[in-house]
Amino acid sequence: MPDSFGSMAKPTILVVEDEAPLLTLLRYNLEKQGFRVEEATDGQEALMKVAEGKPDLVLLDWMLPSLSGIEVCRQIRRRPTTRDLPIIMVTARTEDQDSVRALDIGADDYVTKPFAVDALIARIRALLRRSGTVPTKGQLVFHDITMDQDAHRVTRNGRALHLGPTEYRLLEFFMSHPGRVFTREQLLDGVWGRDIHVEPRTVDVHIRRLRKAVNADGETDIIRTVRSAGYSLDLDSD
Ligand code: CA
Repeated sequence: MPDSFGSMAKPTILVVEDEAPLLTLLRYNLEKQGFRVEEATDGQEALMKVAEGKPDLVLLDWMLPSLSGIEVCRQIRRRPTTRDLPIIMVTARTEDQDSVRALDIGADDYVTKPFAVDALIARIRALLRRSGTVPTKGQLVFHDITMDQDAHRVTRNGRALHLGPTEYRLLEFFMSHPGRVFTREQLLDGVWGRDIHVEPRTVDVHIRRLRKAVNADGETDIIRTVRSAGYSLDLDSD
């Protein structure tokens, strides 16, 4: 799973939690996964941070000093500017009624303490995706090759291809511009980035690896070598 958001602005998560050790743990893990983190330790502060910080998602503890999570959630939903703000409620209660109540008053999802941080992050990503904050990248298709950009999975004729990270990005770049011929320098710019110094011959090495992985079953070679020009993704590869 990709752990950064590339060139996009980092989504901001407002973590509302009055237990300091849990707050620290959540901040550490969310930042590691590429999120920006804002904190509030009581209900009033949460409402203030929602208004000022414009977070992309609120992780809201149910039991809070000053104003309960339920009341904070209600007030966020009541304001026109924050009506659609994604909210995940964190509850220590296990009764189903309470979890349902969190959804009733407008939370989009809930987790019950104690929770696994990985599972929570998966739900945060899913909710951000549903709310359009993290756009779904979708699928690229070329001939019999399908690339699922969200799952980072590539198949050819239904067979899973095992690509290294550079081969994956190279194929993604080609599949985004099928039929177009790229010089080694253009591939270096598009795949490695301008700031990284790599020998043009490195491209040939990764093309070779990519070909080997993609054509492993003796299928048609989809990468065309264009003499003295470069490479392109093309079925007419000989
Ligand atoms: Ca609490």
